[in-house]
Amino acid sequence: MPDQQAQNAAGAQDGARIPSAGTALVHVLQDGYAREDAGGDRVGSTVTLIVDANAAVVVDPGMVSSRAALLAALAGHDIDPGSVTDVVFSHHHPDHTVNAALFPNARIHDFWAVYDGDLWISRDAEGAELSPSIHLMATPGHTDQDISTVASTADGIYVCTHAWWGADGPADDPFSPDQDVLSRSRARILSIASVIIPGHGPSFVPGPETPR
Ligand SMILES: [Zn+2]
Ligand SMILES: [Zn+2]
Repeated sequence: MPDQQAQNAAGAQDGARIPSAGTALVHVLQDGYAREDAGGDRVGSTVTLIVDANAAVVVDPGMVSSRAALLAALAGHDIDPGSVTDVVFSHHHPDHTVNAALFPNARIHDFWAVYDGDLWISRDAEGAELSPSIHLMATPGHTDQDISTVASTADGIYVCTHAWWGADGPADDPFSPDQDVLSRSRARILSIASVIIPGHGPSFVPGPETPR
């Protein structure tokens, strides 16, 4: 199948499977960043809380300057760490995973499994449902093992993803093993997303200037 056709087919399937409006509530707990300062290279992950039905999901509990500040942001939404039901790793880099143990009761989801206590439950993340309004999508490109978390809200679809570090891209991801694969994932995300919550920057509304 030519790429464009494959992409349209994937987009149509996403449209059928993922509700364009839903009941999820999305709260960014930390806007991620990547910058140099006098102390060295500073890297913070965008950390997001998504609440829907019985699920309280933390996406990318990675590097933060202060764990206390992260937990305070969580408490600001009336969620304590023990009530977090699920953690999602967008991919396996430590800057997005190192603080997972802050949430002792959470199942952890990545591209190929769910980890629950000492249970390793193999499954493909593509199409996984965490709640009626929270779904996972396989979106390789920054690494070979990226997933995006798709939240259907009253204001449209929010996608937490490392397919962009921030609104400006970078257009060519310096870590990407295959930029074409990343471009296909970006196209698929853009076909459904109202708002993108990128790996290392504030959320943004995608537009014509968004790197493809
Ligand atoms: Zn990474
Ligand atoms: Zn990152």
